[in-house]
Amino acid sequence: ESCLGLGLYRHLRTFDAATHFANTTKQEGVSVGTLDLHMHSTASDGSLAPDALVRFARECGVRTMALTDHDTVAGVDLAQRTAHLEGLTFVTGIEISTIYAGKNIHVVGLGINPHDEELLAVTTTMCSERDRRAVLMAERFAELGIEGMFEEAMTFSARESNLSRLHFAKALMKRGIVKNQQEAFDKYLGEGKLAYVAAPWGSVADAVELIHKARGIAVLAHPGRYRFSAEWQLDALVEGFAECGGDGIEVVSGSQSPSFTEKALQFARFYGLAISTGSDFHSEAGTRPVPGAQGELPSGLPTVMKMLGLESV
Ligand code: AMP
Ligand code: MN
Ligand code: MN
Ligand code: MN
Repeated sequence: ESCLGLGLYRHLRTFDAATHFANTTKQEGVSVGTLDLHMHSTASDGSLAPDALVRFARECGVRTMALTDHDTVAGVDLAQRTAHLEGLTFVTGIEISTIYAGKNIHVVGLGINPHDEELLAVTTTMCSERDRRAVLMAERFAELGIEGMFEEAMTFSARESNLSRLHFAKALMKRGIVKNQQEAFDKYLGEGKLAYVAAPWGSVADAVELIHKARGIAVLAHPGRYRFSAEWQLDALVEGFAECGGDGIEVVSGSQSPSFTEKALQFARFYGLAISTGSDFHSEAGTRPVPGAQGELPSGLPTVMKMLGLESV
């Protein structure tokens, strides 16, 4: 019942596109073109360095991109400079980890100021928390008779920090303990599984607030990927996200089934959320499509690109 009033309120909200435009770079004569607003580099759990990722995305036909590493903007400046050189339109980004109903829920921030002091302080802490969690996960593995997993996972990370469960999945595959990424998450790394350790992430509302303070727009990442035990929990998540000021939703994502797009569009319409798209590319050996290949953004609804001031429709 609160939804209707909320919808009206949301449409009355104003958005300062000019402020956000300051954090994007549009090259002369380059249109939005093939769009990918969700990708990872070696600054988190991707396999390509930020500059190599931009070049690869360009080879894949991407013309407008965002780098959205987990809980860090460490790769953004290099990616932005490279995108400039390569003639791509670049949108600054991040993917913030949160917890809701015991699930790891991701909120993408687009158009953020990558030098925002609070954003840098919070994400630096989050990267340390990731490393602390990794030590605890390695202890869990040791209890299971699987030794040395912290060091093994670390060999897959280009950085000394910001370890991801994906690095552990790679370590498990290398040792032949699991056949593939899915098995690694189903047996060991997923919520509640054998080596799972919950990280002390904040709420979805905390992430939205942090992104807004850094002058970005908050986008609910891959809503079709969260496997809630009850269907109402997803509805409650999206409603709560909109209620706390969330701006957009990924309706097309390499991390969710194309059959989910229609449901995501219903959410976007009902809650007045702008629509977004991204491959969630990590590496060529990964499970996600290559940059830009996640599928086209349907027309007819306001897009995050419009909110960012990069598109007129
Ligand atoms: P973390 O951010 O350390 O909690 O790790 C989450 C990362 O692991 C995500 O970015 C995905 O790349 C990957 N991941 C999470 N869940 C799964 C899953 N069920 N299957 C495969 N990869 C997953
Ligand atoms: Mn990842
Ligand atoms: Mn994600
Ligand atoms: Mn991602």
